[in-house]
Amino acid sequence: MSNCADVECEQFQFLGGWLCLDFVNTLDERSSASPIESLLSYSDLTRWGLESEALTQHQTEGLISSSTARAQDAALALTTAIDLRETIFRIFFALTQDEAPDDLDIAALHTAIVDATANSELAAKSDRFILDWPDDPDALDRVTWAVAQSAANLLTSGFLDRVKACDEGPCRWIFLDTSRNGRRRWCDMKVCGNRAKARAHYQRQKSASEG
Ligand SMILES: [Zn+2]
Repeated sequence: MSNCADVECEQFQFLGGWLCLDFVNTLDERSSASPIESLLSYSDLTRWGLESEALTQHQTEGLISSSTARAQDAALALTTAIDLRETIFRIFFALTQDEAPDDLDIAALHTAIVDATANSELAAKSDRFILDWPDDPDALDRVTWAVAQSAANLLTSGFLDRVKACDEGPCRWIFLDTSRNGRRRWCDMKVCGNRAKARAHYQRQKSASEG
């Protein structure tokens, strides 16, 4: 789904299986010499928020209108969001490598979670209450709060052994492996899975012709 009228507009992918991981994957080919950034403006951030369902259409329109009037604040909110994205990437990538995340990254994520919680309110929703953020068009960090909350939920979920980094070349997308056997290796079989198979095929042919 996209509401982007611009044909040049990058389409966001949602293959991570968890909101904060999809957010991490807004930087593509992360380990290459020239990673591909898809969050180039505050409106990209809100578009991602809408497509990921972190924002409603009404909230998105309010934030875009507010960000136009408060360009500097919106630029800062984008920087904050991207800083958090990179923090979350480093934490989960370290975990996929069976390494301990950096204490500074954990502290930075904790600060973001505290900020998200401090701005939330208890709201009635059908038969229960949920922690949510008020419909405030000036809350330019709303997407960042949702991502921080999502990272907190994943870190405390018990699913950490299912968080993986794509095995293919420069991709480095992070995803939650929900396959039954827990052996998913690529962010997407159709993209990176096929690239990996094509490379393996090429390597086999090369060794055969050299052999
Ligand atoms: Zn991949």
